[in-house]
Amino acid sequence: MQHFAIVTFGCQMNQHDSDRIAEVLRGAGLSQVPEPEAADFVLLNTCSVREKAEQKLRSEVGRLGVLKRERPGLVIGVAGCVAQQEGERLLKKLPQIDLMIGPDNIPELPALLADCEAGGPPRVRAEFDLAAPSFLAHNLAQGPALGSPSSAGRSTSAFVTVMKGCNERCSFCIVPYTRGPERYRPAREILEEIAQLTQVGVREVTLLGQTVNSYTDPSASFAPAAGERASDWQHTAHERARADESEFPELLHAIARRAPKLARLRYTSPHPHHLTRSLIRAHRELDVLSRHVHMPVQSGSDRILKRMIRRYTVAEYLERVTALQGAVPGLTLSTDIIVGFPGETRSDFEQTLDLVARAGFVGVFAFKYSERPFTPALKLGDDVPESEKSARLAELFEVSNAIRQRYLSSLEGSELSVLVEGRGKGGQWGGRSERNEIVHFSSPHELAGRLVQVRIVRANKNSLLGELAETVDALAPAEFAASVAEPMAAKPLRRLPLSPV
Ligand code: SF4
Repeated sequence: MQHFAIVTFGCQMNQHDSDRIAEVLRGAGLSQVPEPEAADFVLLNTCSVREKAEQKLRSEVGRLGVLKRERPGLVIGVAGCVAQQEGERLLKKLPQIDLMIGPDNIPELPALLADCEAGGPPRVRAEFDLAAPSFLAHNLAQGPALGSPSSAGRSTSAFVTVMKGCNERCSFCIVPYTRGPERYRPAREILEEIAQLTQVGVREVTLLGQTVNSYTDPSASFAPAAGERASDWQHTAHERARADESEFPELLHAIARRAPKLARLRYTSPHPHHLTRSLIRAHRELDVLSRHVHMPVQSGSDRILKRMIRRYTVAEYLERVTALQGAVPGLTLSTDIIVGFPGETRSDFEQTLDLVARAGFVGVFAFKYSERPFTPALKLGDDVPESEKSARLAELFEVSNAIRQRYLSSLEGSELSVLVEGRGKGGQWGGRSERNEIVHFSSPHELAGRLVQVRIVRANKNSLLGELAETVDALAPAEFAASVAEPMAAKPLRRLPLSPV
């Protein structure tokens, strides 16, 4: 077996997993090819959070089954949430599949492939690593991920996993079932990975986890600062507010100390519970933290939030995000919303519209509710008609797009600090502001990986057009890497779009 291809469905957590899977396979001596047609092993990395994942998977497996008839040696694997959730059941239904592997079993992939090659039977390996959790890290000695978008052949941003699993039990969500309970990565591993990434020129790191801000160092290396556990939230009982505290703020401080050359630090996805006083203080104290936070709210109705088992009220959510915005001037918010949740009335939906306006979300990722296997919400029935869900979704987008447009227009004439990612198809440079706005501008110079000042001249529907005002960095990324450490075997890292988990 020489060549592999990975087809990824779903969220950015899955995309991050696919990149790490590719590194595991390259480490075992295989080469990655972009098209399944050219591969000896095709891995379908699935997500079952919002999509009709099994249907999509069936159609992909059917397509690959045709290939397999021509090339019986082709090995078809399924990884990710669907593999974890469906396992043996799906193997019986789709006999073309040779291997199903859960998110925690990726390191075993080379050995399982060797078994397949030796003629072993189809296998399901989907065990949570509860006793000894492992986390897939960037392997900087490996070759580049396919599809790196940087025109300069390098990337400036990277994702770093800090925790996995989820202890929440939102009634619509399958993640606790497919990813297991929360497990945290030791802080020293996280700090070491980020330090190494900055040594090869990475300027921006996004910390990843299903409830990333519940982070607690399993090696207990952080000493809680005096007074940080106190809380004066008006809408949250004192004891519960204390329980919401985590060691995520300490982790952010430790990253800032360990990687002082890092230009930007982001995280996704946080839970409103763990937006605590100490996390707000970290935002105020750490310039490296992005002035944008994506904070899923899901609904603007307390009645629906209760049915969703989100365990906060609209007042609690608003109190916390308002305190964050008060501590960090200009900080913007985006969110996730589900419309048409079981029992959602017109009045509940109008409360969601009201919340969107009051919070001023500059980005709303909204979805129509759909039933997910094994989730508690199945018992509630799916009683909002599909046509009503579609109408509410359209109305929500109309409101949120108007807010976004007003916000982007307000930036015309201002100067933004932009981390340049690469050239787009038209030859213009593209990058993101510290608040995550997409900014395009023209320049004949090589600017990938640099921080520049851009004067905004026009707001488009979802991006900004500007003129280069000033190059902030004196150093190109390779020189930058050399300036902070002996450069390692620098390879491009893949830039992923920011979108909700
Ligand atoms: S929606 Fe998020 S917080 Fe809720 S169960 Fe799913 S992963 Fe956990």
